Amino acid sequence: MVKAIVGANWGDEGKGKITDMLGETSDIIVRFQGGANAGHTIINDYGKFALHTLPSGVFYDHTTSIIGNGVALNIPVLFKEIGEIVSQGVPKPKILVSDRAQIVMPYHILFDEYEEERLGKGSFGSTKSGIAPFYSDKYAKIGFQVNELFDGKVLKEKLVRICEMKNVLLEHLYHKPLLNPDELYETLMEYKEMVAPYVCDVSLFLHKAMKEQKTILLEGQLGSLKDPDHGIYPMVTSSSTLAAYGAIGAGIPPYEIKKIVTVVKAYSSAVGAGAFVSEIFGEEADELRKRGGDGGEFGATTGRPRRMGWFDVVASKYGCRMQGTTDVAFTVLDVLGYLEEIPVCVAYDIDGEITTDFPTTGDLERAKPVIEVLPGWKSDIRGITKYEELPENCRKYVEFVEEKIGYPITLISNGPGRHEIIRRGYTD
Ligand code: GDP
Repeated sequence: MVKAIVGANWGDEGKGKITDMLGETSDIIVRFQGGANAGHTIINDYGKFALHTLPSGVFYDHTTSIIGNGVALNIPVLFKEIGEIVSQGVPKPKILVSDRAQIVMPYHILFDEYEEERLGKGSFGSTKSGIAPFYSDKYAKIGFQVNELFDGKVLKEKLVRICEMKNVLLEHLYHKPLLNPDELYETLMEYKEMVAPYVCDVSLFLHKAMKEQKTILLEGQLGSLKDPDHGIYPMVTSSSTLAAYGAIGAGIPPYEIKKIVTVVKAYSSAVGAGAFVSEIFGEEADELRKRGGDGGEFGATTGRPRRMGWFDVVASKYGCRMQGTTDVAFTVLDVLGYLEEIPVCVAYDIDGEITTDFPTTGDLERAKPVIEVLPGWKSDIRGITKYEELPENCRKYVEFVEEKIGYPITLISNGPGRHEIIRRGYTD
């Protein structure tokens, strides 16, 4: 059975923790999109880890971790991560890398930096991991698939051709040092050494695994609102964050994805620029940021403080719908335990019109939050394992959200640890 674990919001919903938890009963965990631009924070028996490229299943010795063809593969980052977890005592994971995955080139990272610098104030708030230039090249058909590393002659010729083109931009648009195809070739030969033991026809591997009834998790990065088609374009990421793309980015039939666990956060946070209707500021935001997640809401890759906001029904309902949610995993609920009252954004007011349907970007920029205030529960709910044992106002909050978004909350996460979870009808 194939399950996808994806985000409904702007990312950082706690997908890593849910994947790590569901990984316990899974055989294979696949990253199918994105790159090293966002991170998952995972806390388990080995310690605390920030993963950027590896799937969150690498901590089990019974799972195979896969980098699918849809990923922006940063080979040195992948190998640094493997080295780091092994040095912290985690058994060497079984890793497979798709022979069709494309490689983040050193110049993708440079172009990302140069473009943000050029845009100045109008920049996207990129993590400068090269993701946008990478996907631009992929679709302009000038990217490099992993399998191309193994044909030196063709590779060299292609590098010369691509450097010619890139150097025009470097010289005339960015006024930066030019690329040297020979140096790049040497770098790619180092990448080849690193990746060679792991390269595999991932789609075929998964096809066989499905025949053997293996449990496969597709682990998404970021969330629905960062999807390039259905998100807050242009303040989005460059590859699809939706479960549907899991089929393409892993190379499996769409009808094989039987379960879509959408991770929804009990309040909102976002990184980067773009409209954020339920955003809060000042002390109110600082307090939530400080208490949020595990040790505060700061980017796992960048350390940047995240933008904070109240739960947004409109965005989350839409986020769940675009994912095709079968189950909602509602996370970081414990964090709200300090509040006397909890504001929730239940609708948007766009030029006097009240709506609960998520609009396109232009209208979103003008939307104002319609707030409803729920009573808080003023207690620490960590350690509780049964839904009935949650305080009444906490259950009311969960049921309010469930009713408003229209998708069943079958998992509730009340702490960062692997086993801090309340099952509410979730079936494997
Ligand atoms: P991801 O990218 O969706 O995996 O999310 P991140 O890892 O960036 O952010 C989630 C943060 O919240 C991490 O620091 C997790 O350890 C933490 N976390 C996840 N679930 C919970 C929860 O239920 N309660 C608390 N307090 N922290 C959580």
